Amino acid sequence: MKPTNPARLALNTVTVKERWNLRQAIEGCARHGLRGLAVWREDVNALGLAETKKLLDEHRLAVPALIRGGPFPAIDAAARKAAIDDALRGIDEAVAIGAQSLLLVVGGLPAGSRDLAGARAMVRDAIAAMLPHARAAGMKLALEPLHPMFCADKSVITSLEQANDLCDELEGDSSANLGVVIDAYQTWWDPMLEREILRAGRHGRLLGLHLDDWHLAPAHMSLDRGMMGDGVINLPVIRGWMDEAGFTGFHEVELFSANTWWKRDPDEVIEICKQRYATVC
Ligand code: ZN
Repeated sequence: MKPTNPARLALNTVTVKERWNLRQAIEGCARHGLRGLAVWREDVNALGLAETKKLLDEHRLAVPALIRGGPFPAIDAAARKAAIDDALRGIDEAVAIGAQSLLLVVGGLPAGSRDLAGARAMVRDAIAAMLPHARAAGMKLALEPLHPMFCADKSVITSLEQANDLCDELEGDSSANLGVVIDAYQTWWDPMLEREILRAGRHGRLLGLHLDDWHLAPAHMSLDRGMMGDGVINLPVIRGWMDEAGFTGFHEVELFSANTWWKRDPDEVIEICKQRYATVC
């Protein structure tokens, strides 16, 4: 396996969101020598698209992803259309700030529904509806499968195999504008993970790797992700599969951690991310 390369380490702003706004996150990443920052639409729109782009350029930061498009399943046609329209605006915003992709978190069941197959069909139809605009804009849509525990409320796409199947269905071999992101916390448990990472690599659809860890017994489903090295995930193995599959993009630290990392000084958090990236990943 190749050694870690600090130039590939990126931060997701959610990791420092309690203490830093977007401007501070951009300046902080640059101060610590990071070259990539994944950003959220609400923060970008609060700062302004033009100002965001200007600051990113000034600090020579690339944006692996703008977060996010979705959720797509909804109880009626008007709400489904509104979700697609919002995601189409997300494509334009991603273009405006020079992001490499728009991340899709596709959504769970509509309120009151038990129709899982129906929700999955809504997701497929929404992404199909977005692809022509993504192609015209030259923007990649990055599907992130979430852990199955989030199937009801956050993502009816719960494995990389399912995400790959959807890419096959919507784009076949071309895979020019629809790809996948692998998040260690969301996918580490999957016995098919190696096979599916290599499959995604063969189609040129690997768009990101999110770094975090799984505490032996997480205190909260979504807000207790571990720092790399503090949990049970064999990160070098997953990173090795990504290398083998030809992934050359950023390794992005994404810590949803309400009671631990969000409470710490972001400058310390980034220093620890850098150390752990060099020693654990
Ligand atoms: Zn993620």
